Amino acid sequence: MSSRAYVGLGANLGANLSATLTQAALRLAALPGTQVAALSSTWRSAPVDAGGPDFLNAVAALDTTLAPLELLDALQAIELAHGRERSYRNAPRTLDLDLLLYGELTLDTPRLTLPHPRLGERAFVLLPLLEIAPELGHLAVGEDWQAQRIERLAPLSL
Ligand code: AMP
Repeated sequence: MSSRAYVGLGANLGANLSATLTQAALRLAALPGTQVAALSSTWRSAPVDAGGPDFLNAVAALDTTLAPLELLDALQAIELAHGRERSYRNAPRTLDLDLLLYGELTLDTPRLTLPHPRLGERAFVLLPLLEIAPELGHLAVGEDWQAQRIERLAPLSL
């Protein structure tokens, strides 16, 4: 049986951020037992609690038979393949993949928290997520995210 998962993609280092997100989406589509059901537009956003240039963000909806931790392992392997270095918390990164939601699952373990703990406070997650899943509007928390600088760019296509 497959589950609907949502993955947040972000990049703020590298010559071609849009190519990085496209490559990441292709890698998601190539995961075993996994289909990409929908892709948001790319969105350009100001860094939140992080340094460096603007981010390019997107959200992918996946239908997957991978278990939550198998999916997290796969996301981290894709991050590593893109040369991400975890030098310090919130350091600029070539590719950041967050597991935002896995079905209706709630989980609070050292490796994986679901829904993703900051999902509802961040415009760069909420706006692309609501673009492809408008029924999830109840996940928005507070109003801080409405003040974050973000703009919608081109669709992300495979
Ligand atoms: P970050 O540097 O923000 O990408 O955080 C990565 C760390 O957060 C990893 O050690 C993960 O095990 C942990 N983590 C906990 N919950 C999640 C989640 N829902 N999605 C991605 N990483 C998570």
